[in-house]
Amino acid sequence: MEKNQIALSIDDLPTKWYNIAPDLPEPLPAPKEPESGPSRMEFLGKTMTHECLKQEKATERWTPIPEEIRSLYIQAGRPRPLYRAKRLEKHLRLRNVRLYYKREDLSPTGSHKVNTALAQAYYAAKEGKTTLVTETGAGQWGSALSYAATVMGLDCVVFWVRAVYNWKTDRRTLMKLMGAEVHSSPSKETNFGRSLLAKNSNHQGSLGIAVSEGLEYAETHDGSVYCLGSVLNHVLIHQSIIGLESIKQFELVDDSPDLIIGCLGGGSNFGGIALPFAGEVLQKKRKCEFLAAQSEAAPNLVKGEYRYDFGDVAEHTPLLKMFTLGHKTEMVPIKADGLRYHAAAPLISALRHHNLVKAIAYPANEKAIFEAARIFLQTEGWLIAPESSYAVRAGIDEALKAEKAGKEKVICMNISGHGFLDLQAYKEKLSME
Ligand SMILES: *Cc1c(COP(=O)(O)O)cnc(C)c1O
Repeated sequence: MEKNQIALSIDDLPTKWYNIAPDLPEPLPAPKEPESGPSRMEFLGKTMTHECLKQEKATERWTPIPEEIRSLYIQAGRPRPLYRAKRLEKHLRLRNVRLYYKREDLSPTGSHKVNTALAQAYYAAKEGKTTLVTETGAGQWGSALSYAATVMGLDCVVFWVRAVYNWKTDRRTLMKLMGAEVHSSPSKETNFGRSLLAKNSNHQGSLGIAVSEGLEYAETHDGSVYCLGSVLNHVLIHQSIIGLESIKQFELVDDSPDLIIGCLGGGSNFGGIALPFAGEVLQKKRKCEFLAAQSEAAPNLVKGEYRYDFGDVAEHTPLLKMFTLGHKTEMVPIKADGLRYHAAAPLISALRHHNLVKAIAYPANEKAIFEAARIFLQTEGWLIAPESSYAVRAGIDEALKAEKAGKEKVICMNISGHGFLDLQAYKEKLSME
C-alpha cells in the first residue's frame, strides 16, 4: 500500500508560533513615519488589536498559541497533511527527485488565510470588540475573515473591490452565508466611498480604495477593528503553523527538503511554510533553499527595490522596508489575483536582501501556470487555486532541472488554496486555448 499522505495527530498540533525576527542576520528595519501627514502608527493603534500590534514588534522567537486558538485550528481541520507527490513524480519520470506538497487547500474557505483570521478574531473578541472590518481583492481574505468572525460570534464587514465583487458571485454568497456584510467598494458606507461615487457612480474601485474605506469604517464605528491578511509580521507569525507542522511531518518520514517553494503576493503563505525552516538554516541546524514563485504582473522580489514604502495605495500605513515596485504602481490583471501586490513582507524582504530567498516571475498570460494546475489535477487529483499553481509550476520546473542534472533533490511545494471557487477563471483560460 502506498501511504502518500503524511498526517499528524491532533495532539501533535504545534503549541507555539515561530517568529524569525531574532534569528535574522541583522535586526529587522523598524517601520517609519512618513515626513508629512498624521501619525500612521497612532492611526493603526486606534484601528487594530493591541495583541497584533504587540506581536508586530515581537523579538521573542516563540509565542505560545492560546489553547482557544489551538481548538479553533483543530475545528478548522488542522493539522493539515503533507503529501508525497508520487503520482506527479511518475508523470514527470523523476528518479532522483522527491516531491512533496503541504495541503493548505483543505481549509474551510479554501486558503491558508484562515490561520491568521482565527487568531485575529480571537484577539479582537478578547479585547471586547464586536466587529471585524477588512478589504478584499481576490476574495480569499474576505472569506477567511468572515469564517473566523462567525465561529467567534463576531460581526464582519468586508469592502470588496467592485471589479471583482461583480463577477465572483459564488465567493460573495459564501461570505454572506457566513453572516458577513459585504460592500462593493467604493460604497455608500464611508465618506471616501461616497465622494468617489459622486464623481462616478460606476467606479470600479481598487484595493487601495477598499483599504481606505475599511480603515475609515473601523475608525468611525465603535467596537470595530481592522484586520490585515498578509505582509505584516504578526500575520507571518500566525502562518508559521504551516512550516512547524511540515517540519514534524518530514521527521515522520525521515526525509528533509532541499528546496521549499511557495507562491508569493505579500508573502504570508510562503513565509508560513518557509520561515520555520529558514530559522533552522540561520541557526545552522539544517540546509535548505527557498524559492518564491511570482507573476510578472507583480514581481516585487524579482524586480523591486529594497527601500521604505507604504503598504497601501492610499498611504495609511507607516513606511515599511520592503522589496517594492512602488505603492502606486498599476499592475495588469491576472487570474491569480491574490499575487497582485506591490511589495513583499518586510521579513521575507530581509531574507531576500541576505540572499536566503530566491524568486522567479512567470509571464502574465499565465499559460504555463494553468497547464501546471491541469497536470496537478490530472495526476494528484486536487484542483488547486490559480495562485498555488505558481508554486506547482516552479516545483515541476525545478524538479525537471535537477533530474536532468542527475541530482538527488527533495522539493516541497505549499498548496495555498483550492480552486473550486475559481472555476470561472479556469473556464475562461480553457476557452482561450
Ligand atoms: C491570498 C492568497 C495568496 C497570496 O497571498 P500571500 O500573502 O502571498 O500568501 C496565495 N494563495 C492563495 C490561495 C491566497 O488566498
